[in-house]
Amino acid sequence: MMINLTDMKTVRSILSRHGFHFSKKLGQNFLVDPSVCPRIAEEGNAAPGFGVLEIGPGIGTLTQQLALRAEKVTSVELDQRLLPILEETVGEFDNLHILHGDILQFDVPQLLEQEFPGMHVAVCANLPYYITTPIIFNLLESSLDFTSLTLMMQKEVAERLAAQPGSSSKAYGPLSIAVQTQMSVDLALEVGHASFMPQPKVDSAVVVLTPLEKPADVGDRKQFNRVVKLCFAQRRKTLANSLSAALPGIPKESIQQAIADMGLPAAVRGEQLTLEDFAALSAALGREADGD
Ligand code: SAM
Repeated sequence: MMINLTDMKTVRSILSRHGFHFSKKLGQNFLVDPSVCPRIAEEGNAAPGFGVLEIGPGIGTLTQQLALRAEKVTSVELDQRLLPILEETVGEFDNLHILHGDILQFDVPQLLEQEFPGMHVAVCANLPYYITTPIIFNLLESSLDFTSLTLMMQKEVAERLAAQPGSSSKAYGPLSIAVQTQMSVDLALEVGHASFMPQPKVDSAVVVLTPLEKPADVGDRKQFNRVVKLCFAQRRKTLANSLSAALPGIPKESIQQAIADMGLPAAVRGEQLTLEDFAALSAALGREADGD
């Protein structure tokens, strides 16, 4: 019979039997809310015919729900102390493979090839919050062949991923733009801190990222990312002022002209620009820098 990993008494007893203490450094807040893991598994394409890559299985609460539904699950856990616990809690699943290591050190395309040959692959995770952004960037850079990425993160980071230009909050920025050029972003579920053991100070949210059929054409991505970063570096300044301070090699008049050519007002600020505006600006400034 499957162990009930959302029963606090059961969880405490397993942890104490293994002498386990939570590591704050590794972002260990385990889900103990019975309604959340099945929702993540369902939103996250864990289904027959699909492979699921899980990051950070912890004691296996979400892992159980994934392994019940998917063809195959591979879970990467950094904390070696959790391996014997996982053996006890999810060892019964013969469609589950636990790998020990740091997800940021894996060659993800090679991992997918090795673990899920010929399969559609989804990523599902209750992420360690201290490395949410590097993990997202790593996954985006390594493969767009994922069916979806269903990720639990701090609510504030989820809001940044979904933020739109001109939104009153400070949420819209380089992270929103980098993700939205490649993925559609859906906030699937908000999860309060009481759903975790131990309880984090912040609330969380589950976000589903799905690759766009046609990723935005941003030209030279390195140049695009650089321009986006510069546009947000000094949020209180107008775009023209902040870019001309950051790019002393380009005359301020040329920057003002590029902004006017895009049909934007002279006093526009970075947070009002759409993805298309950033792509046009990046191309115009690239031409300037090349001396056209
Ligand atoms: N999935 C479990 C759950 O929902 O209860 C645990 C989630 S907990 C927020 C994050 C997990 O990621 C922990 O088990 C932690 O040890 C693991 N972890 C932290 N850093 C990691 C890394 N770089 N690579 C893989 N796993 C990591």
